[in-house]
Amino acid sequence: MTRIASVSSRLLASAALTVLSAAGALAEDAETHYRLFIGDHAEGVVRAIDAESGEALAAFDIDMTPALTASASGRFVFAVQGDAAKVAVIDTGIALEDHGDHADITLADPALLEITLTGTKPAHVVEGSGRIALFDDGTGDVTVFSELGLLQGRHAPETLSPGAAHHGLAAPMGDYMVVSVPHDDPEQPRVGLKVIDKAGAQIGEVMPCPAVHGQAQSARVFAFGCKDGVVFASPGQAGAAPDLIHVPTAELGEGNVSTLKGGTALQVFLGNYGPDAVVLIEPGSDAPFRKIDLPTRRVDFALDPVIARNVYILTEDGQLHLLDILSGEIKQSVTVTDPYSMDGHWRDPRPRLAVAGDHIAITDPLQGMVRMISTETLTEVRQIPVEGVPYTIIAVGGSGATH
Ligand code: ZN
Ligand code: ZN
Repeated sequence: MTRIASVSSRLLASAALTVLSAAGALAEDAETHYRLFIGDHAEGVVRAIDAESGEALAAFDIDMTPALTASASGRFVFAVQGDAAKVAVIDTGIALEDHGDHADITLADPALLEITLTGTKPAHVVEGSGRIALFDDGTGDVTVFSELGLLQGRHAPETLSPGAAHHGLAAPMGDYMVVSVPHDDPEQPRVGLKVIDKAGAQIGEVMPCPAVHGQAQSARVFAFGCKDGVVFASPGQAGAAPDLIHVPTAELGEGNVSTLKGGTALQVFLGNYGPDAVVLIEPGSDAPFRKIDLPTRRVDFALDPVIARNVYILTEDGQLHLLDILSGEIKQSVTVTDPYSMDGHWRDPRPRLAVAGDHIAITDPLQGMVRMISTETLTEVRQIPVEGVPYTIIAVGGSGATH
């Protein structure tokens, strides 16, 4: 019960904050804008689309089908092209600037930056404490840079070499970074996580986290998926190194967490667990895990940054499920696409989802469109035709004053 109570009070607090900031924005001329950035499944193209009008704003030619990640502010989208050894950087053209009691929103054309991040096999991009860390699986090196540097045309990346090549990750936390640790034998799975300082020197012992994969941040805490549990990293007191704890997931049965998403208004994580379940994760709770079984296998999931208690999960039967974080129950299920079987290659074209304000934007690759679903009713309100085979998707934007 304490668990629910603490989440509820945080939700109430965040709801009050949302109301306050909305009132501040309404006092002036408030505008809401969202843009969708869509990676093509067949070709190296990222398309920018206005989420409201459906207007195609730009199409950026890159080298291959990208994995897409947005910066925390939504100002940039990173198009990771591991096999092409590159990361393209797209300026989304939407800037939200904090003015204390309200935000200002300004719009410009989306643009592909001239700067391309390079590496041997770049993969995970993780942002924390105002720093962005790109892990190069081909070398084990971590490239660290800031969004401010990109904005001001002063891109000055630093490179750290914390270990050997592996499919890894690095999470910036204050002056420190949590990085994955490979096995001495490159054929063996990753063994865990370690903390390094700004110079790359290891602090403390390696925290075991077998086959570590997947990370997310929520309210300054990072969570990492392990074969046998989840590791939480909390910021240290008074500038000290982060504290890492490992919490086993054995009680949940067969499966493990290897993909995570973090809540923005609530301190909560959502992870995968086996092919047909998800797990709600609350760090610091006596019972941190709540597993939710799904009717069929999972295709993708997303947390709602506005309606903080909502999680949306798409399953292979084409159903979109609304999961309530507070009750841990699926409240509503609606059919939104034709079935997309999880049989076949994991990279086959299947829908992906992103939350854009009060809409869930779902790519429907075989129909060549994005379906816009209301977060209030879970009904489809419009379809946006998209050229090619729309696949990966990122939504950026928000509301702000224009004065
Ligand atoms: Zn202002
Ligand atoms: Zn990965």
